[in-house]
Amino acid sequence: MNSSNTAQAFPEISEDVFRHVVEQSAIAISVTDANARILYVNPVFCTITGYALEEVLGCNQSLLSYKSTPKEVYQEMWGELTTGRAWHGRLLNRRRDGSPYVADLTVTPVRTTTITGQPVLRYLGMHWDATDSHRMERQLQNQRQLVESVVETAPTAVALLDGEGHVVLDNPAYRRIGQDLSLVDPARAVMGSLRESMGGNFDQAVAARRPIVNHELRFDHAERETRWFSCSLSWVEEQSSTADAFYDAENKVYLLLVMNDITVAKRQQETARLAAMRAVLSEGELSQSLREALSGAIFQLQGPVNLISAAANMQRRRAGAGADKDPLVQALAEAREAGETAIATLQSALPAEPLEATGPVNLNEVVRDVLMLETQDFLAAGVTVDWTPARTLPSVSGEATALRNLFRQLVSNAIEAMNRRGWKERSLSVITSVRGGQVEVELTDTGPGIPEELRLKIFEPFFSTKKPGQGGARGVGLALAQEIVRRHRGVLEVDPHYHGGCRLRVSLPDMRSESARDGGIA
Ligand code: FAD
Repeated sequence: MNSSNTAQAFPEISEDVFRHVVEQSAIAISVTDANARILYVNPVFCTITGYALEEVLGCNQSLLSYKSTPKEVYQEMWGELTTGRAWHGRLLNRRRDGSPYVADLTVTPVRTTTITGQPVLRYLGMHWDATDSHRMERQLQNQRQLVESVVETAPTAVALLDGEGHVVLDNPAYRRIGQDLSLVDPARAVMGSLRESMGGNFDQAVAARRPIVNHELRFDHAERETRWFSCSLSWVEEQSSTADAFYDAENKVYLLLVMNDITVAKRQQETARLAAMRAVLSEGELSQSLREALSGAIFQLQGPVNLISAAANMQRRRAGAGADKDPLVQALAEAREAGETAIATLQSALPAEPLEATGPVNLNEVVRDVLMLETQDFLAAGVTVDWTPARTLPSVSGEATALRNLFRQLVSNAIEAMNRRGWKERSLSVITSVRGGQVEVELTDTGPGIPEELRLKIFEPFFSTKKPGQGGARGVGLALAQEIVRRHRGVLEVDPHYHGGCRLRVSLPDMRSESARDGGIA
């Protein structure tokens, strides 16, 4: 559109106004002839370049070149211009004082006529100083590269989750965890495990966007080694960069998940812990055996003493007024007194039950400990163990040592049941799971099983299917196990429908559902 065309298209606007537009423009404007010789520049051109109008008139635009721009750039530029197309790009320019700046330039070929009506080619150049913008872009790019290379090579697993919980950025260490643990979405599994292990605290932290720092999680897997991770969650706000959020910034919130593999350190701790636990358990076993032996003796004595007492009462009634002088009454009274004294003496010798603090206990850990502690016995009896832990398990509220004793009792019963001459099938399967607010541990052995008529009797104190004199046949183990389960408000039962051996199921209330009701153990 030439000047007369412009005047026709906008009759309300005089050419003067258009000249003002060019003169006042915030962009450097130049007009050249077909050889890039400058015919006109506006004031901003002079401000940016430092040249006065008179200094540049008649000069080639190349006076702005910093002489470091590759030839190909100009060739590409001129290639476009000579075929009548506009060109846009960035060039490195030199100001009058020699300082460089980045020019964001658009050159447009304009075919027009001279005042005398001769057709001519003019180039219209428009550029702005893009040095700051270029610096910021580069800085941003550098920072992004730096962050990306740190995140990519870090041994720490990192994942950024959007508001819907989808992973929008992750690193190789994170993806490796997914492969190692056969998890399609490790972040989802971690969030689930955090919720299970932290209970209400997790939801509160999420609602208040409070960071969760170094929370340890364990991932059990039947075929692979248990892995431990120290997990942290923090919230990252991103300011919206869209134009419509210029005044009303609607920020996006991302969740940053950082996971450190602490398996090696944990394994070392585990070894030390197991050694310490072995010492505590063998000490506890000693006093437990003493308690069982003394309780057995008291139980055995109580029967005859009750009989003597009944006989003494009968004889006293029969002797009537002369009872005080009756030698049999006296003898029976002495015998009863001696029996009661003996019972009292035995009772006073009973070692006190150790007091243990109640706290959150993970049954996967307890069962794994027990299976490790019993390794020697499994090997000696040729029993194979099939351990299938729930990937994550909510805690139960309880006494860790008592619960360990409970499962040791059940496991050693199973070993004993299968460790008999000629018994071929010797395997023990242990499965943990969560069902309806209960944490369940199911132990299935391939021993002879428990006949239906004895399924309740086996939990009675001093009941045993073994003949007296057989090792460990005191008959209090299951009664004590039952007592521990009862104290933890749980249930220990024999599965009546299982016939390939014996299947015992221990169900203890999940800590979260229990704390929702009241608290503590009975
Ligand atoms: P030159 O020899 O001038 O050009 C390099 C190559 O470009 C040549 O080999 C040739 O292939 C091609 N070429 C050059 N002139 C023409 C032409 N008239 N017709 C066809 N092909 C040609 N350059 C900058 O560095 N900074 C600027 O800000 C800038 N602004 C410009 C604004 C306008 C309106 C125009 C038309 C050009 C502008 N140029 C600018 C380009 C400038 O004219 C020079 O081409 C460039 O600076 C390279 O100069 P040189 O002396 O290194 O090489």
